Amino acid sequence: MIRPTTAHIDLDALQSNYRSIVDFVGRERPDHTPGVIAVVKANAYGHGAGQVACALEEAGANLLACADIEEGAVLRAAGVRAQILVFGALSVSDLDGLFDLDLTPTISTPGAAAAVQAAAARYKRRIRYHLKIDTGMNRLGFRSDNLKRTLPGLLASQNLELEGLYTHFATADVPEHPLFDEQRVRFARAIDDVAALGGKPRYRHACNSAALLRDSRVWYDLVRPGLLLYGIVPPPLASTVPLAPVMTLSSR
Ligand SMILES: *Cc1c(COP(=O)(O)O)cnc(C)c1O
Repeated sequence: MIRPTTAHIDLDALQSNYRSIVDFVGRERPDHTPGVIAVVKANAYGHGAGQVACALEEAGANLLACADIEEGAVLRAAGVRAQILVFGALSVSDLDGLFDLDLTPTISTPGAAAAVQAAAARYKRRIRYHLKIDTGMNRLGFRSDNLKRTLPGLLASQNLELEGLYTHFATADVPEHPLFDEQRVRFARAIDDVAALGGKPRYRHACNSAALLRDSRVWYDLVRPGLLLYGIVPPPLASTVPLAPVMTLSSR
């Protein structure tokens, strides 16, 4: 061994964390238990995307999420067969991967909507997508206060099928921050607006790990833990979910 420090990845701990999260949401919400999107972006938070994703799939995960099409390609090359949601902004000049690799895009701008629609028409395919609503993160998404103007064209697209509707909390890990509640309310209103425009998404989702731990009102149909899968509870929150660390560093 040349380097005296190694990172050890415990895939059993990863699978056990995944099952703990599934059990936790099932126990807390037996009547409308949310599904779990296993977040494996950024090389599975540095844990090795291919092996982590395959282990999660073996543990029962049927929906994974990554940041971009390139990460999706890595997952497919590793043999992942589960549905893969791409969170990030799409490079509108290169959308072939969505079709060749069977990835589910997030549409977060009208420009991206037009590009995916055009690509899907070229492939003669109807592609399912998740629509991202910006409720206050100010990073990606259709502005929640403008949907009546921006959505009708998108919902009318022949080749696009709205499967999911989601938002991302900017401050879920800051307990007293008022933005969390503002975003929660704006997302609830956006859900109503989309329904009023005729959109019928199968999934609504909003929770990263911190939001999952702090407020079951925003669990909706799916939750999106990243950190918790790897055994990390975002500080300063506490967790009653039994979790084990997945990565251990050791050094001589
Ligand atoms: C990274 C990410 C998550 C997971 O966040 P954690 O804090 O690691 O649980 C969830 N949703 C989106 C959109 C993300 O980008």
